[in-house]
Amino acid sequence: KPTVIIIGRPNVGKSTLFNRLIGKKLALVDDQPGVTRDRRMGDAEIAGLQFTVVDTAGWEDEDDATLPGRMRKQTEVSLEGADAALFVIDARAGITPLDEEIARWLREQEVPVVLVANKAEGKAAEAGIYESYSLGLGEPLGVSAEHGEGIADLFGGLWPIIGSKSEEAEAAEEAASLEGDDENAPAGPLKLAIVGRPNAGKSTLINRLLGEDRLLTGPEAGITRDSIAVDWEWFDPKANETREIRLIDTAGMRKRARVTDKIEKMSVADAKRAIDFAEVVVLLLDATQGLEHQDLKIASQALEEGRALMVAINKWDIAENASSLFNGIREALNEGLSQVRGVPLFAVSAKTGKGLDTMLSAAFEIREAWSRRVPTAALNRWFDDALEANPPPAPGGRRIKLRYITQASTRPPRFVVFGTRLDDLPKSYERYLVNGIRAKLGFDAVPVRVVLKSPK
Ligand code: GDP
Repeated sequence: KPTVIIIGRPNVGKSTLFNRLIGKKLALVDDQPGVTRDRRMGDAEIAGLQFTVVDTAGWEDEDDATLPGRMRKQTEVSLEGADAALFVIDARAGITPLDEEIARWLREQEVPVVLVANKAEGKAAEAGIYESYSLGLGEPLGVSAEHGEGIADLFGGLWPIIGSKSEEAEAAEEAASLEGDDENAPAGPLKLAIVGRPNAGKSTLINRLLGEDRLLTGPEAGITRDSIAVDWEWFDPKANETREIRLIDTAGMRKRARVTDKIEKMSVADAKRAIDFAEVVVLLLDATQGLEHQDLKIASQALEEGRALMVAINKWDIAENASSLFNGIREALNEGLSQVRGVPLFAVSAKTGKGLDTMLSAAFEIREAWSRRVPTAALNRWFDDALEANPPPAPGGRRIKLRYITQASTRPPRFVVFGTRLDDLPKSYERYLVNGIRAKLGFDAVPVRVVLKSPK
């Protein structure tokens, strides 16, 4: 993990920044003899960028030599092995002679320095921020450690310096946790919902999968039961292992003898409940009926809820003009569902069992993609390339600045793009980024969210 050291004269807010960076966690005290007694270290993370942060506050209590001398001695110790230094000044107080002295000394060091103008909230700080350019350490990043403002900007300053090292650490951690429980790895039974219009064959399919006549099917079926979850084990011939599946079955998904408006509405509510519960949603179509508006509505709903979606055309055993039917449905799905780039489409028969193993294998694969996290550095490598290949426009001659991207969450994948003047960013450019994430980062079939954010 990269190490970042916080440097600055007393009272500029080093400890506040330190506490802010490590979150609410307790600071670890490094009490190794011979090393600075008061040196505090902790694990920090900004938007996925992980590093160890070292606080040099506290050195001023030692009583030998002059203040700058002591500072130098202490920071020199801490600087050994540091990958970056955050040099903190107090934007409200402006630049003091001691700041200048530290800056002069830092300019001679090999460690890359990020200049941080703290206490930057409000007008009172503006002069100090401009003044700090004179330190010759580049552009100051205005932050308020106290109020948590501008911390995202620190990412932009630190990432080019420590990003790759942080990613290496992240990858090593990931490898180490492969056997253990990784928060991102899909865990537990696959939560699967099978939704579709009445008569598509949902009950028949579920019976087939469970291998027993659990649910009544056919025109006379009029079962009223609340939604139930059924766990079962399925041998995956592709992965050659037994897998667990939890199937969400709702009463309203089943065929009714008389389909009234009321029951139609109920089945929509049931579909929604099943979608809420599921990781992967299979929309079942009837090969003899084709794709209808209501099917697209259910599919959209699943995607809007952020679920991984697959479509299966059932009753393939009695399908006519099979290949043109398949292609027609594929096209209609691509056209009707802009949220994904190609929905995985399968031809199955609940009656004969054809295509079911293939469909279930795919369900596990799509859950994996849905749960995947892209390391920050790899993500930003893609991002830089995407911006270079097609730079954001410059409406009114002022270029929109996109700085970096992070993956905020998984299941479904959500990304945050940081930049300035984002209100002017055309929707088409946003789509360009979303399409790039899907196509280049392996999120083809899962709904991807992208949020734009301007750091304060
Ligand atoms: P649900 O309302 O979606 O649960 O539909 P059902 O499972 O009750 O099935 C409706 C009808 O379609 C029943 O008569 C089933 O026997 C029939 N069916 C279901 N799956 C298939 C299939 O794969 N092939 C054929 N030929 N018929 C099917």
